[in-house]
Amino acid sequence: MLIDGELVEASDGKTFSVYNPATREVSGEVPEATADDTNRAVAAAKAAFPAWSALGPAKRAVYLKKLAALIREHRDEIAKLDAVAMGMPVSTHFFAESAAGQYDHYAEAWPHIQGQASVNTPGHVTMTLRQPFGVVALIIPWNVPVHFFASKSAPALITGNTIVLKTSEKAPLAVARIAKLVKEAGFPPGVFNVLSGHGIPSGQILSRHMDVRALSFTGSSRTGKLIQEEAARTNLKKVILELGGKSPAIIFDDANLEKAVAQTRWSMQFNSGQVCMANSRIYVQSTIAEKFVEQFKVSYSSSVKSGNPLDKETNHGPQADELQYKHVLSYINSAKDSGATLALGGSGKLETSNGYFIEPTIFLNTPEEAKITKEEVFGPVVIINTFETEKEAIAKANDTEFGLYASVFTKDISRAMRVVQALESGYVGINTTSPNTAYDLPFGGYKGSGQGREGALCSMDNFLEVKSVIMALEEE
Ligand code: NAD
Repeated sequence: MLIDGELVEASDGKTFSVYNPATREVSGEVPEATADDTNRAVAAAKAAFPAWSALGPAKRAVYLKKLAALIREHRDEIAKLDAVAMGMPVSTHFFAESAAGQYDHYAEAWPHIQGQASVNTPGHVTMTLRQPFGVVALIIPWNVPVHFFASKSAPALITGNTIVLKTSEKAPLAVARIAKLVKEAGFPPGVFNVLSGHGIPSGQILSRHMDVRALSFTGSSRTGKLIQEEAARTNLKKVILELGGKSPAIIFDDANLEKAVAQTRWSMQFNSGQVCMANSRIYVQSTIAEKFVEQFKVSYSSSVKSGNPLDKETNHGPQADELQYKHVLSYINSAKDSGATLALGGSGKLETSNGYFIEPTIFLNTPEEAKITKEEVFGPVVIINTFETEKEAIAKANDTEFGLYASVFTKDISRAMRVVQALESGYVGINTTSPNTAYDLPFGGYKGSGQGREGALCSMDNFLEVKSVIMALEEE
């Protein structure tokens, strides 16, 4: 861990094991942050804040640039550490490069830290100033650790905040390596603290800490609600939540079928379905349903190459750990019990390697009220249901507490835009689906998928307070 500029073990020396989900062998021992470690990290961040915020963004940017270069230099090592911690195949790991890009972007984006000014109030000049919060906590999940590490820390730091970031207990290795690079980049002690450990105690302490003034969280809806509760009970810190999804893709019968199949399949395949915005509910117009399902089955089963995530040929890794594996299997069993038709896969024995592999799985005609239709599975399990009319498709797509990403495939532009307006979703793809996103668009959820937005043009805003200043002028 990195606390107050020093690479340290836990204060009580305790560690926890991280297992390679492809082999079940131990990949590493990692410090378990204690309450004391967490409090020390916040205190260090608080002490470092006055000097860091006074430094000015152009000088802060120099540290971000250095870190970007170091991450680029170590990208292969970083990818391997994610592979042996949570099973992401190295062939699909482009996140070290994109993380470096985030640091470069925010290092250059600082001139956008701007308030407004007006003379609209007679006898006065008014203005707003944008200033950092102070200590910001960042809590990240395991599914794309390096991405969230960078996309939260870079905007928080460039805007003048000091940070305490906690990794997920399932995937702490790559970020632990980057913590060493943070030290090498020479950030002043206390500015950039990195903890590893479970939600309790360290995540919980950050959520209720009186000196933490803003907290950005990506993870499950369950944990997001707990964090919000802690924040409300203590100092009402600003909370930004990026939570789960149950993303629908609607395929109309005039869509380019081949493209719709390829894209919705990739959405499920990427990261073995462990993606918040994976289109895990596909609604196909009944007139083309048979054709779509046939092509989807062939595409899904033929494009998946499972195996050791360290092999360059592998594109389908295991689920992140035993808990996730069992979680996904329990949803598969619940779907079978619900009366849905199993069309592909459905077992947890894709590999004989002793790893937590799950076969690409398709269910047809799943009841809309079934558990698997309503809840996030976070695995390579997709349900394909049918609809007759536009109205029915929209109603089914919206019938969920989530609202992260939705997509619509059709050649009819008016229909596409009607559906886009009706979808209760923070992100909508037309003739494309997740994980396709644009760098300069906000990302975040409607309804239970979160609160607030992140992204290149929003994330600096998240970490800046607004101060309104009214200045009275003397009459001439
Ligand atoms: P999780 O909620 O189990 O854990 C996320 C983080 O919260 C971890 O660091 C964990 O240690 C910490 N945590 C656990 N309990 C805590 C507590 N009581 N207080 C504070 N922190 C606590 O989520 P996960 O399993 O790591 O991630 C998967 C989830 O993340 C899925 O639901 C997925 O949809 C969601 N996700 C959302 C987005 C998005 O941008 N909306 C992106 C990726 C993942």
